[in-house]
Order: sequence, then structure tokens, then C-alpha cells
Amino acid sequence: MISQDGIIDAAEFCPSPNFDERPNNTSIDLIVIHAISLPAGFYNTQLIKDLFLNCLDPGTDQFLESIKDLKVSSHFLITRKGTLIQFVPTHKRAWHAGISVYKARENCNDFSIGIELEGCDDEEFEQSQYNSLSRLINFLSKDLQINKQNIVGHADIAPDRKTDPGPLFDWTLLQSML
Ligand SMILES: [Zn+2]
Repeated sequence: MISQDGIIDAAEFCPSPNFDERPNNTSIDLIVIHAISLPAGFYNTQLIKDLFLNCLDPGTDQFLESIKDLKVSSHFLITRKGTLIQFVPTHKRAWHAGISVYKARENCNDFSIGIELEGCDDEEFEQSQYNSLSRLINFLSKDLQINKQNIVGHADIAPDRKTDPGPLFDWTLLQSML
């Protein structure tokens, strides 16, 4: 993997408008793992892309209708097949964590990289996703000097609001691959 202008060459780049600048003098030292499925419980990578690109067509789906105007993004998405998609350059601030706290530091978007896995709370993730995720984290930790201990789930930094990546995410497996 090579990173130029914060974009990784191994990723399909789909630029999202949902980002801004990180605060001055902020070093990136946290990786936040998320899970997303659209509609909930179904896997449709295109709908996730559409959400992050602000062009989600909700059709008749009430859940999609309820989220279609959210301005959200993540730096990366790993599909069920393990394909890596990037939406925001790593040095920019993606809008993935929302109200959040990590070790008494608020607004985790300021200092983190957000990685979405296509998945949900009640289904195990695919081996190809762990392969892609571990490769990405190994690269990011080297490229951005992020400590590999500083990897959390969205639920860890926003426990009142979020459950992702969910109880079936295998942290032990991930650690064994880093
Ligand atoms: Zn999340």
C-alpha cells in the first residue's frame, strides 16, 4: 500500500463531501472500527456509498428515509468481500464518530481514522474483511505512526448511542493479525 495525499493506492477512491479540516496540531492516534449495513441487516455496498456521497435514494424504506439527510462519512469502508473503499483522505477529518469520548478526550473525529465494515450486530464478519482490515491497520500504523493499541469500536467511544461493530466482531482475531 502506498499513500499519496492521504489516499491509499490499494483503495477505490470515492470522494465524499462530508469532511473538513482537523484542528491545528492534532496528531492522528486512534482507529475507530464501525459496522454498517443498508438497509439495516442487508448488504448493499452501493447504498453505503450513496449515503456517504449524499445521494441516497430511500425509495419506500423508512429507515433509509430517516438517514438520507445525514451528513456522514468515514475514511474507509471494507465490503463483505474485503474490498477497500476510501471516502476521505487520512489527514482530513471524516464525520464518523459523532459525540464521542476516548480517554477523556472528546470529539474523536478530530484525532481518529474511521473504518466501516459492512456488517451488523448479529452476523459474523467475513475472513476477507479481517484480512483487509488488518492489512489496512498495519499500513496506517506505520504511515501515520498510530499505536496499534489505540484501536476501539464505535461503541467504546459512544456507548450510550452505538453498538457497532457489535458483539460478533472478533477482537482477538484482529489483534492476532496485527
Ligand atoms: Zn459507527
